[in-house]
Amino acid sequence: MINFEYTRASDIADAVRRASAEPRAKFIAGGTNLVDLMKEDVERPTRLIDITQLPLKAVEEMPDGGLKIGALVPNSDIADHPMVERRYPLLALAILAGASQQLRNMASTGGNLLQRTRCYYFYDTATPCNKRAPGSGCSAINGVNRQHAILGASLDCVATHPSDMCVALAALDATVHVAGTSGERCIALRDFHRLPGNTPQHDTNLQPGEMITAIELPAQGFAAHHAYLKLRDRASYAFALVSVAAALELDGGTIREARVALGGVAHKPWRDVSVEALLRGRTPENAVYAQAADLLLRDAKGLGHNDFKIELARRAIVRALRQAAGGAS
Ligand SMILES: Cc1cc2nc3c(=O)[nH]c(=O)nc-3n(C[C@H](O)[C@H](O)[C@H](O)COP(=O)(O)OP(=O)(O)OC[C@H]3O[C@@H](n4cnc5c(N)ncnc54)[C@H](O)[C@@H]3O)c2cc1C
Ligand code: SF4
Repeated sequence: MINFEYTRASDIADAVRRASAEPRAKFIAGGTNLVDLMKEDVERPTRLIDITQLPLKAVEEMPDGGLKIGALVPNSDIADHPMVERRYPLLALAILAGASQQLRNMASTGGNLLQRTRCYYFYDTATPCNKRAPGSGCSAINGVNRQHAILGASLDCVATHPSDMCVALAALDATVHVAGTSGERCIALRDFHRLPGNTPQHDTNLQPGEMITAIELPAQGFAAHHAYLKLRDRASYAFALVSVAAALELDGGTIREARVALGGVAHKPWRDVSVEALLRGRTPENAVYAQAADLLLRDAKGLGHNDFKIELARRAIVRALRQAAGGAS
């Protein structure tokens, strides 16, 4: 463990000012990811800026019918919130599929978005890893890559984003509210996380010193027809090999609106609007779901150990869409 300074932020402006002034400072919320990474010597912050006392714990209904969730609302409180259960059950399902009750009690909304990859080599400081040490190489491409990406990877990094919550947020078209020294801005969740390209050290499009203050969900929650399917090695306490958030709006025998997002397959939650366009106006049936799966996975590429994920994802997409439509699984 390294030496670091500890500061408790007095307000949001104080937090972002301190983070901007010290490039290796880190915000700390629940600490369930950051402290582990510090113990493993992967993260070496010079200062921890404790944001847990900031007023970011509210869940508010918005005038347009949406819902704003503060960055410090614990994951378990989101999943149990009556408004989320009633209007955004897909989000509740995805959160409850992750980690354990104790972890969800500690984990914050903002921290969940910024949790880092579970690539084994990222955690092992004895091995090369471009995400941890830019320019050192990627041990996973020719190493053990069973958990790794089948979509959107680069020669520099084939890691996956591990969050379950973010897959549902991508399907629900959430927006991330952030604050920095030059003011506040909103980023669509689908543009928040990055593909690795040749800068895999950057997981997101946050600027240095920026802090997440909230996420916002639009009014459309797909409460009637949704599914979150998570496939993993153990039934609990394991990250997704493949997960699917599927949401449909049905009009009689026709799909009026559709959303499909994948987790465990790429450096970010994977969503492709052309697949949703294909589903719109079609009959909710297996042949249509199979076409959607083929389109969503058209560029999927295995690395060897993870080749099985392509067929797993194909079946998971079909099954999740069938569940969302209300058919037998
Ligand atoms: C054993 C184990 C199993 C798990 N299983 C799953 C799983 O199956 N599915 C899943 O989705 N997750 C899983 N998780 C991950 C867990 O969900 C995350 O660790 C948690 O959500 C992180 O939230 P936190 O508040 O503790 O973040 P912290 O550890 O406090 O912070 C994480 C990162 O976010 C930054 N940060 C925190 N808040 C903000 C903010 N408001 N603005 C800007 N930066 C911020 C920190 O600087 C840090 O870089 C698991 C974790 C563990 C330890
Ligand atoms: S996949 Fe990414 S995180 Fe894993 S070793 Fe390669 S560069 Fe590092």
